[in-house]
Amino acid sequence: MNCNDAAPAKRIVIIGSGIAGLSAAVSAAESAASGTEIHIIERATPEEAGGLTRWTAAYLRLDEADVAAEGFVDDIVSFSNGRSPKWYAQRVVERIPETMAWVQGHGAKFDRLPTYFINSSRKRLQPVGGGASLLEVLLPVAEKLGVVFHFETTAIGLQRHDNGAITGVVLEHASALRTLEADSVIIAAGGFEGDPEYLDENLGVRDRPLVPIAPGARFNRGEGIRMAIDAGAGKAGAWDDFHAEPVDPRADHAEAIVMGFNYGILVDRAGHRFIDEGRSTIDETYEETAREIWNLPGYIAYFITDQHYTEEVARGPEGILSEVEPITAQSIQELAEQLGLPVRDLEMTIAGYNAASIDAPFSWEAPDGKATEGIEPKKSNWAFPLDRGPFIAYPVVCAIVFTYGGLATDEHGRVVDGSGEVIRGLYAAGECTGLYHGKYPGGTSVLRGMIFGRLAGIHAALQPSDVLTAGR
Ligand SMILES: Cc1cc2nc3c(=O)[nH]c(=O)nc-3n(C[C@H](O)[C@H](O)[C@H](O)COP(=O)(O)OP(=O)(O)OC[C@H]3O[C@@H](n4cnc5c(N)ncnc54)[C@H](O)[C@@H]3O)c2cc1C
Repeated sequence: MNCNDAAPAKRIVIIGSGIAGLSAAVSAAESAASGTEIHIIERATPEEAGGLTRWTAAYLRLDEADVAAEGFVDDIVSFSNGRSPKWYAQRVVERIPETMAWVQGHGAKFDRLPTYFINSSRKRLQPVGGGASLLEVLLPVAEKLGVVFHFETTAIGLQRHDNGAITGVVLEHASALRTLEADSVIIAAGGFEGDPEYLDENLGVRDRPLVPIAPGARFNRGEGIRMAIDAGAGKAGAWDDFHAEPVDPRADHAEAIVMGFNYGILVDRAGHRFIDEGRSTIDETYEETAREIWNLPGYIAYFITDQHYTEEVARGPEGILSEVEPITAQSIQELAEQLGLPVRDLEMTIAGYNAASIDAPFSWEAPDGKATEGIEPKKSNWAFPLDRGPFIAYPVVCAIVFTYGGLATDEHGRVVDGSGEVIRGLYAAGECTGLYHGKYPGGTSVLRGMIFGRLAGIHAALQPSDVLTAGR
């Protein structure tokens, strides 16, 4: 599109085409007066566009398609020790029925499919086909409604009027810069998990590497967040924290998680245990465990189990998505040698652990109380002795899913400054907005991206145009 064309009645520019960006675009197009132009700026090619949304199974914290899971608001607030704002969680819950009806109306299908949290009793709904299916549903609708897509185009800055309103976006395409003027800009460009320098500045990753969970992460380099902060936006969420998952560092494919550690032990490079691997179900413990591993020497741990796991944990294979075969050995000595761990230390760790396992029945499906006694750290559940070879091991490192630090917004998705004042013409939705602190309340990210993307799109479409119609 030529940016010098005659001005439309109104123009809305959206940065990013993940769940937040597409929800914003379709909702804006459905709500806007005729003559309104809606543009999506997307740095990736059409095949790779969609950021993290393209790679997630998208578990949703819903009991039914239109019903938030019990404790939705309380969990978001309490997992953050009171730092995530209650109003935001309440706003999500309030908007679930309408938003879910809307996306299903466009063809999205949801079902209660098996999850990799094999011993969790929490309900999770998923789009059939994962996050990619939501993109496949919404993108053609956006195209049909006339949304203009600019692929392989990166938003690098905002244009701001003297009166403080945002009036356009500076774009880079094939090394050429230009400005696309706009009445409203909606930033939906994800977090900054794809920018090593920004990550290092906030999380200190230079000497402590983090593995990206999926290829989509590399497109999210935080320009959207930076440009809004340069324009005076306030910050929200924990800037020094991130959502973490434990993965196999040998694997090549996305989300090569190793979530079986409830049913064995985790040892560090010295062959020592460092955590209660069975303190709770896997969904409640995987993230904290991944972060603990990130703090270990060498940032690596080893999950060790035995044939109890293969023979008695019926859904065991669903908890490990690494495509690389485990390391197996007939003896602990041989296993230690293969893993490069000190043989004597690993043998002593496992002998002590086996001796401490109490005589109680093992049941994989829920915390079974089969604990250890007299060792530190204790193991609270599933502590069967590791005595049934061949023994099995996976290396495990911490992967970053997304960053927590982002922009402060209000109930319509408008970006606010440090004192809570709205920055006119600027919206943000999805992972570029800050919400989380501490433990991630699973199944809330895609949902909030969709809900706040939709809110921002509708609000931007219905706002009276104050820039383009004021004459440029
Ligand atoms: C493996 C995996 C598992 C996950 N599991 C879950 C789960 O079960 N449940 C859940 O709710 N969430 C989950 N998440 C997180 C969830 O996928 C994301 O939080 C959510 O999809 C983010 O949506 P978004 O629209 O904000 O950003 P994204 O989907 O990341 O989209 C951002 C888009 O912006 C584009 N972009 C970035 N910068 C620019 C720029 N400067 N100019 C132009 N374009 C730009 C990117 O190319 C991308 O297309 C998971 C993520 C992954 C990767």
